[in-house]
Amino acid sequence: MKPPRLNNDCFALPAGVAWTPVDQAHARLREVLHGVTGTEVVALADAAERYLARDVIAQRSNPPAANSAVDGYGFAGAGLGEGVQTLPLIDGRAAAGEPLGRAVPAGFAVRILTGAQLPEGVDTVVLQEDVTVQDGWIAFHGGLKEGANARAAGEDVTAGAVVLSAGQRLRPAELAILAATGVHQVPVHRPLRIGVLSTGDELCPVGQTAAGPQIYDANRPMLLSLIARWGYVPVDLGHVPDSRDALRARLDAAVSEADVILTSGGASAGDEDHVSALLTETGTVELWRIAIKPGRPLALALWDGAPVFGLPGNPVAAFVCTLIFAEPAFRLLAGGMWRQPAGYLVPAAFAKSKKPGRREYLRARLNTEGAVEVFKSEGSGRISGLAWADGLVELPDGACQIAPGDPVRYLPFSGFGA
Ligand code: AMP
Ligand code: MG
Repeated sequence: MKPPRLNNDCFALPAGVAWTPVDQAHARLREVLHGVTGTEVVALADAAERYLARDVIAQRSNPPAANSAVDGYGFAGAGLGEGVQTLPLIDGRAAAGEPLGRAVPAGFAVRILTGAQLPEGVDTVVLQEDVTVQDGWIAFHGGLKEGANARAAGEDVTAGAVVLSAGQRLRPAELAILAATGVHQVPVHRPLRIGVLSTGDELCPVGQTAAGPQIYDANRPMLLSLIARWGYVPVDLGHVPDSRDALRARLDAAVSEADVILTSGGASAGDEDHVSALLTETGTVELWRIAIKPGRPLALALWDGAPVFGLPGNPVAAFVCTLIFAEPAFRLLAGGMWRQPAGYLVPAAFAKSKKPGRREYLRARLNTEGAVEVFKSEGSGRISGLAWADGLVELPDGACQIAPGDPVRYLPFSGFGA
């Protein structure tokens, strides 16, 4: 099944807005984007990191039958008093996968191991460490709650219930609950293929020798690796010079290989900013001038129906924009749900005076005292600062004065899955 295409005007922003605040940009993406890949049914073994296309119903309860949570002795808990209790043991035992196969009469106990189905007549288990066993009898201190150390049938999930919902990502834990509830195959979205294209006359691909004014293409390996980490399919579209024709040809070819395209460079309004110029020709571009540092501008457009994120060329800005805008957008395009990155308030290990007008992201990491340090330079060409950092400090849109010890919002890269 192929979902409907995105609307050509989906990235349109309200007229007259000069600088789009980050929150507004997010709200817009959240509103207009949806899964763009088809769906398929795959075996659980092939479902890791996919997004569910439909709600999934538990085929079996977890646990399917009442069972013991511990190694011990089982009996009927009703009417057991306080003080020392003694009960005779019946022959045999109940173990996981080896039920006792008969009822335990009132007033008797049975040896039972973790995971064993509770035999008829047993609803309570005493831990073996709390018991003395002698001559076919057990003794233990009473006061045990009826039902202690036992798991009820279906106490986790009952058969027929929705166990996971459409849009959920199948992380390891989701695979466990699907397996436990007897789900062998799942309806999922096909993996999102994300093309990465670098632009610029100055770029030299890694592996060749840069000469004169050339610089190495740092964005492509960075973005391809982020995409792979997120569990999407990275598609290397190479690099094109600052030529509208070359770019047009590459984008035309790319739409059959990728569901969404990330370009970097040429997204502003300069003479050599051919990405924004070309996308503008298609009529579906929106140059989102987002009130963000580092970043802006971000060009969003559809090329033959495929969303294109035109990132700034600067590697630091490209990285930050990818985490802040592209990552949540990819989740939606892949069939997932919107998610804010996890952030924590942490004491600052720095001082800063920030002007109002745009949200700022500083390369940051926690020090041994649990306070957050920022990289020594805010220069957006300092790629080494990205490698130094473990996350970003997010400073609000408005002005702020930060003194050491003040709480600031820290977004670890791990919160973006990066
Ligand atoms: P642009 O957005 O094209 O104006 O590029 C902004 C800055 O980023 C310029 O200094 C470019 O040389 C640099 N840049 C653009 N693309 C890349 C890339 N793929 N790797 C490293 N630097 C880049
Ligand atoms: Mg350029």
